[in-house]
This record gives sequence, C-alpha cells and structure tokens, in this order.
Amino acid sequence: MNLHEYQAKSLLKTFALPVPIGAVAISAAEAVDVAKKLAGTCWVVKAQIHAGGRGKAGGVTICKTLDEVHAAAEAMLGSVLVTEQTGAAGKLVQRIYVEQASTIVQECYLSLLVDRDHECLSFVMSPDGGMDIETVASTSPERILTLPVGDDGLRDVEIAQVAQFLTLPLTIQDELKGLLAAMVRAFWALDASLIEINPLVLTEDNDFCLLDAKVSLDDNGLYRHGDLQALRDLNEEDPLEVKASAFGLNYIALEGDIGCMVNGAGLAMATMDMIQMKGAKPANFLDVGGGVTEDTVTEGFHLLFSNPHLKAVLVNIFGGIVRCDIIANGLIRASAMHAERVPVVLRLVGTHEQAGREIIEASGLDVRWANNLDEAATLAAAAVGGNA
Ligand code: GDP
Ligand code: MN
Repeated sequence: MNLHEYQAKSLLKTFALPVPIGAVAISAAEAVDVAKKLAGTCWVVKAQIHAGGRGKAGGVTICKTLDEVHAAAEAMLGSVLVTEQTGAAGKLVQRIYVEQASTIVQECYLSLLVDRDHECLSFVMSPDGGMDIETVASTSPERILTLPVGDDGLRDVEIAQVAQFLTLPLTIQDELKGLLAAMVRAFWALDASLIEINPLVLTEDNDFCLLDAKVSLDDNGLYRHGDLQALRDLNEEDPLEVKASAFGLNYIALEGDIGCMVNGAGLAMATMDMIQMKGAKPANFLDVGGGVTEDTVTEGFHLLFSNPHLKAVLVNIFGGIVRCDIIANGLIRASAMHAERVPVVLRLVGTHEQAGREIIEASGLDVRWANNLDEAATLAAAAVGGNA
C-alpha cells in the first residue's frame, strides 16, 4: 500500500525525523489558512497524488505571498497531473499539501528498501538527489551506492562512508547517524517495504530536512496496523483491484486483453507466461485461491467481464480443493450479467470435472474447451488475434 507524501511525512515525524511543518488542504481558501498559520514568508504548495515527478509537471510550486498560495492551490486542485510516473491518463489532484519552504544548500537521494539480493534492508543513496535520479541511475550508476544494513544497524565506519559518498560536511555526522537509525526504526515499526527520501536536503542552518517522502507499506503486515489501514486512499488504486480485494480475491490489473481466472498463484503466473509465449497479453492476474464459493467466483468473473479492454477469457482451473462445478456455476451466473460476449476458453480439470462440464453444456453457454494449458493459451491468443 502506498501513502501520500503528507501521510508519510507525518508518520516519519513520529520517529523524530526532520520534516518541514505543513498541513493538507482541499480548497484554495483552506490552503491560505494553512499558510497563515505556518510561520514564515515562503511556502511550498504540493499536489498529493500517488506518483512522483510532480516537480517537473507543475505539481510543486514555491510561493512568496498568500495570493500565490491561493493561485497555486486553485491551479492544482481538480486538475489532472500527468507526470513521468502517472502514465498518460494522469492523476486527479484532490488534495494539496502546504509547507513552510526550506532553503536548500545541498540535495541528495536516500532510500531504504528490502534488498532481495542481500536478503536484508539496504540504504540506496546518491549525492545527485532531486528530480533526475532516474537519469543518474541509468547514465552514472557509480553515483549510486547500495549499503546493506546489518542486524545491529550501520557501524560508525559505514556512517562515515555515507557522509563521504553524499559529500556531507563532517560536522553533521552525529545527525546523520541519528537520521539513518530513525529510518531503520521506522521501517521495521511500520512494516514498510520502501522509505524513499528524494530529496533529503541540507538547509542553510546545516540541518537535515526531508523535503519529499515516499513510504510504501507491506500489505501482508497491514493486519497488524489498524491505524495505518485507515490511510489507504482508494481513489489512487485501480477500481477493479479495490473491488476484488473487498471479495478477498487476489486480482492485479495488467495491460493486456485476455482475462485470466486461475486457482493458485503459481498456476496463475504460469498461465500468464503461456499467454505471452503465444504472442498475446494477459489482462490481469487472478488467483481465486482454494476456499472459494460460487459467490466469489461469480464476482471474480464479473470483475473480468467489467474490464473495458477485455477481448477473451481464459479459465485455467486445476481443481483440488476448488471444485469445477462451483467455477462453472459462477461463470454462468456472471455471464448472465453481461450482454456483451467475449470468447471464453475453458480448461477445467480435477475435482468435480465431469459435473462442471455438464453444467456448462446444459447452460448452452458458448465456450471453447481446452484439454491442457498449452491448448487453452493457443485458443485464447487466437481469439484475440495473437500470432499463435
Ligand atoms: P517530486 O517531483 O514529485 O519528487 O516532488 P518533490 O517533493 O521532490 O519536489 C520537487 C522539487 O521541488 C525538489 O527536488 C526541490 O528541488 C523542490 N522543492 C520542494 N520543496 C522545496 C522547498 O521547500 N524549497 C525549495 N527551495 N525547493 C523545494
Ligand atoms: Mn521527490
């Protein structure tokens, strides 16, 4: 689960990390009120969307007067911001964050993430922080350092290494040590999967300040954090994924046009691979799991059929705990809700296979039967005009 910048900053503040003071607003008038309450003479107005790259797209404005705050807020709220990370459709700005502006002496990039190569947390950093970190990563990878975090955190010699790599003044080493340790503490306490600070800045007073913050939480840890669950913003998520999670279905939207209904995550991955191998593209990942009911299967098919890009459906059920008759009944019920028909390819084997087949045949539903996954993928790809 991803958080908004303002949510991330308020959480990180509770771990004594230095963030600018600010507050969220949903109207221009409210933005001006916020700015008035914050001391200072310079503010930053920032669009709150689940995507970076706002600075280059007009989603971050530095304001020197309250009128400028009003104008910036008015321009952002209700607009659709298209950044390098949003895709062409962009994201609707429904909230803005107003902060006291900081004076930047130095900008760097600092993130903490789950490092699968080293099987631990690692800091990833660069002295070239700010808005072009993606370019740095591709053109000058030597300007990026990955530093695995040991069980006891970073050792002093490693902290000195960080300071040197980021070209930070020696006088700030103690603050740096505290900052890195607080990030690790926050990471564990929040069950995070990513904390990314870009930029981490050094201000004119020689203090650190987290000017931007992205925090992603591990969905599998969320059950331990009732307070964090409340931070979820459904407006930022794919509507079909939101619906699926309400039914306990493991659904991930993809860009292709073949809807997949599969039992078991591994089989679902294999099904998507097979579709790709046949020159076509899956529209989704969907693992209906083991303990499904006819209702959840119906909802699952209903989700697939609701996808406007759908051109065919591939059902790949290798029934163990899942019963083929339940899948068949769910398919028939969901098909009745959708007048538009796309070709449905069925590979339905295992528990109650015969009953499933009879139910489909008796319903008169037009489906294409496949004996195995290879055949099913071939039929589905052919149905969408793939090169199988
Ligand atoms: P992003 O483009 O979505 O990553 O948004 P950021 O929050 O990182 O802001 C983009 C850029 O705006 C930063 O890299 C800074 O250079 C600049 N910026 C943001 N806040 C301030 C501020 O308080 N003072 C100054 N001078 N620049 C800021
Ligand atoms: Mn940023």
